[in-house]
Amino acid sequence: MSTPSTPSTPTVDALRVWVLEFPTDAPEADGTATWTSTTMVLVRARSGTTHGYGWTYGAPACADVITDLLAEHAVGRGAFDVPAANETMHRALRNAGRPGIGGHALSAVDIALWDLKARLLHLPLVDLLGRARPTVPVYGSGGFTTCTDQQLEAQLRRWTGEQGIPRVKIKVGESWGSREGRDLARIARARRAVGPDTELYVDANGAYTGKQAVRLAQRFEEHDVRWFEEPVSSDDLAGLARVRAACTADVAAGEYGYTLPYFAAMAPTVDCLQADATRCGGITVWLRAAALAQAHGLDLSGHCAPHVHAHAAAALPNLRHLEWFHDHVRIEDLLFDGGLDPTGGELHPGRDGAPGLGLTPRRDVLQHHTVTTASAGSP
Ligand SMILES: [Mg+2]
Repeated sequence: MSTPSTPSTPTVDALRVWVLEFPTDAPEADGTATWTSTTMVLVRARSGTTHGYGWTYGAPACADVITDLLAEHAVGRGAFDVPAANETMHRALRNAGRPGIGGHALSAVDIALWDLKARLLHLPLVDLLGRARPTVPVYGSGGFTTCTDQQLEAQLRRWTGEQGIPRVKIKVGESWGSREGRDLARIARARRAVGPDTELYVDANGAYTGKQAVRLAQRFEEHDVRWFEEPVSSDDLAGLARVRAACTADVAAGEYGYTLPYFAAMAPTVDCLQADATRCGGITVWLRAAALAQAHGLDLSGHCAPHVHAHAAAALPNLRHLEWFHDHVRIEDLLFDGGLDPTGGELHPGRDGAPGLGLTPRRDVLQHHTVTTASAGSP
């Protein structure tokens, strides 16, 4: 695992980490959380004059985990040996904790290392991984419970009308499932706004109880809801299985998965597994989660951070779709040049031939949103 690189292969010379803060464009809430700003922890891995970028949406403490616990296992290593770096970082987190902040931190470094490797090889990441599909379907995701009716309709029409995305998702389970009437009214309003031909999804973020979710799922069917995400807490696997058995919508969960055993336990209880490469161990482990899902006869759907997932998603035979999440799309489009276009509901990662993830941070935006920054390795 600690194989030193040979002189002929490039090495990872340094990591730099930024904690970036992005205020939301309006207060945002789902069934079980509210927020007014989003933190991104951005990692740059350098080899010679080549830089690769990875990130996670997590706590600022991720930056300390990276510089204090992980950097020594990435810096100095052969830049092509990403799975070896991933495994050594995974082992280094044993006592600090691999799930949670440790998983976010490890993921950001892993993503930066994949981007770096692809850039060193002058390949779009999808071509380094190997393409399984020409395009990557996305669904518009937002519909926060804080939206006014007018804001909700405008957002839905932007995705379905202006951008031609044929799948959308809104948040339900407002105030821990205590506002069922408003949930149902918002679903009805969303269905009217998008028309009969758009796939309509809902995400309760674990807000409902088991019996409540079963009862509401039947009401949601009146509006042809096709996807019911985290109807109950994703820690309640028996509850997920019970809702799955009782409704026609696909039950989905997995966004809080940090390790493969978590996905293995969840897979038998859902219709579609979700995984987030910015949490589960980067692109390295996300690909393995997809294989695990495939072994259970399931598709994988990528959670949030669409520009992290797009290239790896095109390498999956069993991809369902990626989440074109309002909050993260806004941040990624602001911070990076080279963002992907969701028009028509499909991304085309690698089409422009740009190496790696194809993204370049805008220096002025980076500086403007930086809270702290730190480095490890040779400057
Ligand atoms: Mg969700």
